[in-house]
Amino acid sequence: MLFIFGMSQGKKILDYTKTIICGQCEGYGRYQVFMTYSYFSIFFIPIIRWNRRYYVQMSCCNTIYELNPEKGKQISRRESADIGEQDLTLVQSGHRAAEWNQKKCSGCGYETAENFEYCPKCGQRF
Ligand SMILES: [Zn+2]
Ligand SMILES: [Zn+2]
Repeated sequence: MLFIFGMSQGKKILDYTKTIICGQCEGYGRYQVFMTYSYFSIFFIPIIRWNRRYYVQMSCCNTIYELNPEKGKQISRRESADIGEQDLTLVQSGHRAAEWNQKKCSGCGYETAENFEYCPKCGQRF
């Protein structure tokens, strides 16, 4: 008898919707809650899950926060939970935050994230 078993990482999107003004990009965004976990499976059926972690991803700028696990459990049990800023720990800032560092040439419109003093296209000073 051959057993096929293994350990894998899983990800599950949880059902939670809240629209807020994002603290990272100051746009309107939605909290998208997901859970990651490790699992042990036999015949591709997950038997044991552990190491559950809960995250929130902003729909506006893809900023990722780690979520307070108590709130995460409530949401995964479909209990009503209200996520507040105190439940979130910033993991990865979204791409719009990076765009703030972008320079744009007033002469030709060339955009760069490099720290050039003069525009490499038309030579105008930034
Ligand atoms: Zn945002
Ligand atoms: Zn230029």
